[in-house]
Order: sequence, then structure tokens, then C-alpha cells
Amino acid sequence: MHDAIIIGSGPNGLAAAIHLARQDLSVAVYEAEATVGGGTRTRELTLPGFKHDLCSAIHPMAKASPFLQSLPLEEYGLEWIHPEVPVAHPLDDQPAGALFHCLEQTVAHLEEDGETYRRSIGPLIHSWKQLLPDILAPFSLTPGHPFTMARFGLQALRSAEGFTRRFDTSKARALFAGLAGHGILPFDKPATAAIGLVLGVAAHTVGWPYPKRGSHEITKAMAGYLESLGGTIYTGHPVTSVEQLPASQTVFFNTTPKQILDIAGDTLPQDYARKLRRFNYGCGVYKMDWALSEPIPWSDELCHKAGTVHLGGTYGEIAASEQATARGQHPDRPYVLVAQQSLFDDSRAPSGKHTCWAYCHVPNGSEADMSEPILQQIERFAPGFRDCIIGQHSMNTVDLQAYNSNYIGGDINGGKQDLSQMFTRPAGLFDPYHIPNTQFYICSSSTPPGGGVHGMCGYHAARSALDRQFQKTL
Ligand SMILES: Cc1cc2nc3c(=O)[nH]c(=O)nc-3n(C[C@H](O)[C@H](O)[C@H](O)COP(=O)(O)OP(=O)(O)OC[C@H]3O[C@@H](n4cnc5c(N)ncnc54)[C@H](O)[C@@H]3O)c2cc1C
Repeated sequence: MHDAIIIGSGPNGLAAAIHLARQDLSVAVYEAEATVGGGTRTRELTLPGFKHDLCSAIHPMAKASPFLQSLPLEEYGLEWIHPEVPVAHPLDDQPAGALFHCLEQTVAHLEEDGETYRRSIGPLIHSWKQLLPDILAPFSLTPGHPFTMARFGLQALRSAEGFTRRFDTSKARALFAGLAGHGILPFDKPATAAIGLVLGVAAHTVGWPYPKRGSHEITKAMAGYLESLGGTIYTGHPVTSVEQLPASQTVFFNTTPKQILDIAGDTLPQDYARKLRRFNYGCGVYKMDWALSEPIPWSDELCHKAGTVHLGGTYGEIAASEQATARGQHPDRPYVLVAQQSLFDDSRAPSGKHTCWAYCHVPNGSEADMSEPILQQIERFAPGFRDCIIGQHSMNTVDLQAYNSNYIGGDINGGKQDLSQMFTRPAGLFDPYHIPNTQFYICSSSTPPGGGVHGMCGYHAARSALDRQFQKTL
């Protein structure tokens, strides 16, 4: 008899397991795949010796996460790498934009828009430590720091389109479009400024780092720590029904609503099951990885110093790309997110060689081949890129879902992150982690605060169970 069984070993499943095991509860994790990790695995996808992050690559939210930062993951092998520049954004007819770790450097770099940027981001940087626990948490009528949260909310609830109007220069407008584009929503929707603000502030506080040797190091370290606390992990164990699980006081789903209905549908309250069936999934992604004979030949020097490069040109182009994707179209010039980990991490590729990671957004379930539009966007800002390619690997939304069943239709966030689902995902505002009248909990990114590698969904789900089931309020 376990205290808790967790289905799935993504960062949120492991976070839930760790928080429970830290309270001396007996915990077992069942993972479908051969290794732990969910969206954080690293593999030789192209050629021997080239290590590619299959899914997540850049981890400001892991570095910001109050829960992950409370764990001794460095003792279990995790090493963070901070590129000189967190993110660069090349433009056709002028020097690239960038966010630097230093706010003052960014203000100077943004020239006419520097002071506007400082006024928008500066106060949030100063209150970041207070804000984070409230932002990375379920909705609360009594946030820890109500005034700070209200000040953030006033800006964050705006659309990215409305927020960006404060900038006069195309450089600042394009930079913010690149940040807001991580939300995978059209920029005229309310609250699409939120993700841009959080990622912008993160660049000046925790940075946009990535783990040496690959994103898998995050969950390998979490698994090592969990086992040191007495937790057990069974890999290669896909769970198809709750009946196949050993006896346990609680079951945690590190899965999305669709799988919960498949695995436990008969045992769920009907009203709740109906809500899960209405859950909305968002756009998918098309993912590419390359083995390169040399670094990406960016035209703009600044891009050689950045871990992440946002491609798509101006605000207008990126906004149009996100709008088209949401309408079910495949843009000719998609917004492309690029990471170049091997520039600052020599464990990723054989000596002198490099890797490149990239993806663009596509309609949910798309089977289109987006490799040519992605390559064209990279060539646009790095002419000669194609000549550097010695190995290539692509995944459409079907491949992504086959790799990780949580990526329904290629949705990497466990559900659309629009205002209607931001706080209520997957089926309610208050304690969204507990399935009413059952001993079941949801701990995946389908719960608040949503997608990304931060483990906060798992942490809050574990807290909910400790409170309800184990009478431990922590
Ligand atoms: C291409 C791509 C790029 C991304 N880039 C970033 C990034 O740079 N930074 C970032 O922070 N985030 C990024 N993400 C998002 C991030 O990977 C996810 O938000 C995060 O992994 C979600 O964590 P999770 O624990 O909720 O679920 P997951 O990581 O998806 O883990 C779920 C686990 O459950 C297992 N599972 C599912 N069903 C079953 C079952 N029935 N039985 C047993 N096991 C099961 C799966 O195999 C999987 O291991 C990216 C994702 C993708 C795909």
C-alpha cells in the first residue's frame, strides 16, 4: 500500500513525488517511457556524439521556480550554463535587438525606448521575489503580496498588442513580440502580455540558462533525489487503467485531461468528466534539430553571444504568424525559436561541431512539413546555414504526441493557456488539482501555473493532497 502513485515522470510528476516523499510518505512513479523526464529528455537524434534536447531547452522558469530551487539538484549532477546574452532578436534592416542580464545595458541598447522599458519592467524586477510564488500558483483570493500582484496584473492582463503600443521603435516592439510569442496565442487576446513580462523579467533576474549536457539533467537529478528520499520509479510502465495500479491512498496524474478520461473515466464524477471533455488544447509545434559542421553563421554579431534567438523579424510579422496559426493556417514566414546550446556547452557536440534546436507553432494536429519555412527563416538571418548542416531531425505534431502522449495534437503546454483556462485549468478555479469525490489529483501542466519546466504544478498538487488526504498543511 503506497501513500501515493504518480502516473508520469515529467518535471511535475517528479515534483509531486518529491514533495510527498519529503513528508515521509511512500511514493511510486510509473513512467510509460524507458527513461524518466517527459519534456526534458536529451538524445543523439542526428549523428553520434550530437546531443539534442527533444523538447525543452532553455529554462528561465526552472531557475526561477521556488520549488526546484529548494531542491539540492546540483548534488545530483545539475549544472547551469548562462550564455552571455539571454536572448537576441535579429532584424532585416537594422542591428539585432537583445535582452541582456543587466537592466541598464538593456535600457541603453533600446535607445529611445530604453526608459519606457525600464518603467515597464523595472518595478517588476524589484518585486520579483515577492511576485513569483503568487504568479507560479493557482488563483487565490488572498495572494501573498496583493499590491505587488495587482500592479503586475494590471500590465499582465493586457493583450501583447496593447502592451507593445508603448514602444516607438521597431526593435523594442519586435523584442516584446518574441517574448509574448512563447504563449502560442494571437497577440490581440487578453493576458497575452503576461508571458512576455515574466520572461522579460526573468532575463534580468535568474537569466535564461540551460543545463550542461542537456535538459534531461534536470529530471535525472530530480529522480536521483527522489530515490534518495525512498521513492521508487518504474520506467517502461504505461498505465492504461487505474485498476492495474497497486493499492494506494492517492493517485496523481502527470497527464492531460484526455488521458485521465482514458485511464480513469469510469470512476470520475460525471459532471467533472464532462468538464474534462470540454478542455481546450492549443496550437501544436513543429520541432527541428541539426548537427552542424560549425556555429550558425549569423549576420549579426550579437546573435553569436545568445543562447536563444527569436526569428521572425518585426512585431507585425510575428503577430501575423501567431494569428495565422490560431486560425488553422501554416504561415510561410513562421515565428521560429532557436537555441544554440553547443556554443556555450562543449558536451553537446564533438569538438568544433555544433547543434541547433528550433521549433515553430502550427495548428493543433498539423501534419504539415514546416522544415522549409523554418530553414528559410534561419537562412534569412544566417546566410549559409544550410551549408553547415551535417545531420537533421524533424518532428511534426503526430511524432511529438507519439513521443510523449501529453502532447495532444502537438500542444506542448498541456492545454491552451488563454484567459479562459489560465486560472481554471483543467476544470475549476479553487483547488484545481483535486478531482472531487475521488482520491485522484492532477499534477501536470494542465493545471496552474501551466506549461514550462518549473515543477510548480506538481508541488501545488502535492500540497493539495497533503492538506486533504494526509492532514498535513505545509
Ligand atoms: C519542442 C518543445 C520545446 C519546449 N521548450 C521548452 C523550453 O525551452 N523551456 C521550458 O520550460 N519548457 C519547454 N517546453 C515545455 C515543457 O517541456 C513542458 O511544459 C513540461 O515538460 C511539462 O511537464 P509535465 O511534468 O507536466 O509533463 P511532461 O513533461 O509532458 O511529462 C509527462 C510524463 O508522463 C508520461 N506519461 C503520460 N501518460 C502516461 C501513462 N499513461 N502512463 C505512464 N506514463 C505516462 C509521459 O511519458 C511523460 O514522461 C517545450 C516542449 C516541447 C515539446
